[in-house]
Amino acid sequence: MSWLENIRPKIRALVTRDVPENLWVKCAACDQMIFHRELDANLKVCPHCGHHMRIAARERLAALFDDGAYQEIEPPKAIVDPLKFRDRKRYSERLRDAQAAAGARESGGDAALVCHGTMGGMKVVIAAFDFSFMGGSMGVAVGEAFVAAARLAVLQQAPLIAIPASGGARMQEGILSLMQMPRTVVAVQEVREARLPFISLMTDPTTGGVSASFAMLGDIAIAEPGATIGFAGKRVIEDTIREKLPEGFQSAEYLHEHGMVDMVVPRQEMRETLIRTLRHLVRPNPPADVVPLKPAGRIAAAPEKQKALAGPAESDAETAAAPPKPSGKPSGKASGKASGKPSGKPAEEAAGNASGPDKSGEPAAD
Ligand SMILES: [Zn+2]
Repeated sequence: MSWLENIRPKIRALVTRDVPENLWVKCAACDQMIFHRELDANLKVCPHCGHHMRIAARERLAALFDDGAYQEIEPPKAIVDPLKFRDRKRYSERLRDAQAAAGARESGGDAALVCHGTMGGMKVVIAAFDFSFMGGSMGVAVGEAFVAAARLAVLQQAPLIAIPASGGARMQEGILSLMQMPRTVVAVQEVREARLPFISLMTDPTTGGVSASFAMLGDIAIAEPGATIGFAGKRVIEDTIREKLPEGFQSAEYLHEHGMVDMVVPRQEMRETLIRTLRHLVRPNPPADVVPLKPAGRIAAAPEKQKALAGPAESDAETAAAPPKPSGKPSGKASGKASGKPSGKPAEEAAGNASGPDKSGEPAAD
């Protein structure tokens, strides 16, 4: 048995030497052959039909961060094989094989990577899953990594982006893997309490305990086209409820239609979309210094101006200030901004409303 195992790869190496392998990849959706370089350049998206294939975590990260540069942090060491689990193979062995296949680190690596860098000049922390590592399953080490990512985000005052690609909990760790669900939820809560945005970018697949915990908690929930997102598999549900499920059930598009996902974004547009979204949520610097007006001038000018401009100026300001949301009030926006700073704000706000036309340009500009 063992000598056969030993010799088989050697024979294969002899036979297939000099034959270029994996130069062409067949698209699972449209059956077209794609040259591997073209596929890589297209971020593993089929150029013929737009099918999104799975992509390695590091490849994805390089496509998201500015200049493809980011720092990976080593998450805290987690307990290895706490249950001494064994099926056909020891869990510790499976883990070692997966770590060897992942290549980067010989020990301690797991299905989640934690890294930080900048996107559009903004600091960002990302926790990304690698599906090729034991199906991206979430065990203690992955929970540990996610918590580390959340704490790093709080420490750096940076938004957190989670990119799950996971079949769910790691069954070889039993209840300990299930306990990572509340743990990651608490980690998300810590980010929220620090008033930092948390974005969940769901990729294929986001299922089981991962979708049932942090993946669905994003302030903004983004999904890749065609990604499978759900808890239990379709067949399990059908067998349980004895009903046929609708077409496309548990796909990113279906969830988007039903309000579980905010947007479905193609991979090539992901970086731009994330940067644009983050710009709305994070403001690294105020657009300009706000200088309080002199109180005497305000009192003299305010009453007539307010009377004169009451009708038209108010509606002008409203349309100019909040084009995407028709219900948004300009005064709400101004007071929201003002409440962050303690001094001189009510006067400033009143003055802002009074001088209507000049002021209305300012919120639209940022
Ligand atoms: Zn295709």
